[in-house]
Amino acid sequence: MSSELIETTREKAQLQARNGSVVHHQVVIVGGGTAGITVAARLTKGWFNETDVAIIDPSDSHYYQPAWTLVGAGTFRKEATRRDEASVIPPKATWIQDAVVEFEPKQNRVKTRDGRTIEYDFLVVCAGIQINWDAIKGLKERMESAVITLLKVSAAPGITFEISKGEPPSSHSPSPGLNVGGRRRRSVIWPMTIFANRGYVKKVT
Ligand SMILES: Cc1cc2nc3c(=O)[nH]c(=O)nc-3n(C[C@H](O)[C@H](O)[C@H](O)COP(=O)(O)OP(=O)(O)OC[C@H]3O[C@@H](n4cnc5c(N)ncnc54)[C@H](O)[C@@H]3O)c2cc1C
Repeated sequence: MSSELIETTREKAQLQARNGSVVHHQVVIVGGGTAGITVAARLTKGWFNETDVAIIDPSDSHYYQPAWTLVGAGTFRKEATRRDEASVIPPKATWIQDAVVEFEPKQNRVKTRDGRTIEYDFLVVCAGIQINWDAIKGLKERMESAVITLLKVSAAPGITFEISKGEPPSSHSPSPGLNVGGRRRRSVIWPMTIFANRGYVKKVT
């Protein structure tokens, strides 16, 4: 998408449905991450290309999260996993740059942080997951120093750094069903194999 078009999409998103107003869209998608953008793209192309689709998402940034594994492995720049949200909004979809704070399914409407009311015929909810770092005492404070994780892009490069010190890191797996359980094993095994082959790390288990 050209930078001019990205700027227009961003400006339009901020103008959409001013505070206190009520607007209606055929399909409202809550969350403009991978899922929301994919659904919006499918609904505005081909047979459905007349569908009136709105995406509600407050974020200026869209991240390609699977590449964070490669960031952890030291083979991808973290900056390259980010796109302007405006650049990934399908051209025929409307972006409302705001956060949903209330669902009112009986009235087919949602309310937003900035006081907008958005009505819909169909609702798609894909607001991702919220990671509660505070659930483990001390975790948040030690993030990016003693604790490294692939679930936060700023902390992912630490994986390669820790491994390069020569000590195999201790790696923990989330319960099955949580956001791609095998990914941290991937990014630990991969660079460790590279380092082991170069003789930096003696033991890969
Ligand atoms: C390190 C890593 C590696 C991965 N590897 C793979 C892989 O190899 N293969 C694979 O299939 N998947 C992989 N995944 C998983 C995949 O990236 C995620 O499943 C996918 O990004 C989830 O998309 P989503 O749209 O549900 O959520 P997200 O992409 O997280 O988007 C959620 C969106 O909702 C918005 N939002 C949140 N709250 C609100 C609100 N109240 N109102 C409006 N908007 C809101 C957010 O701003 C965000 O833009 C990986 C994930 C990670 C972290």
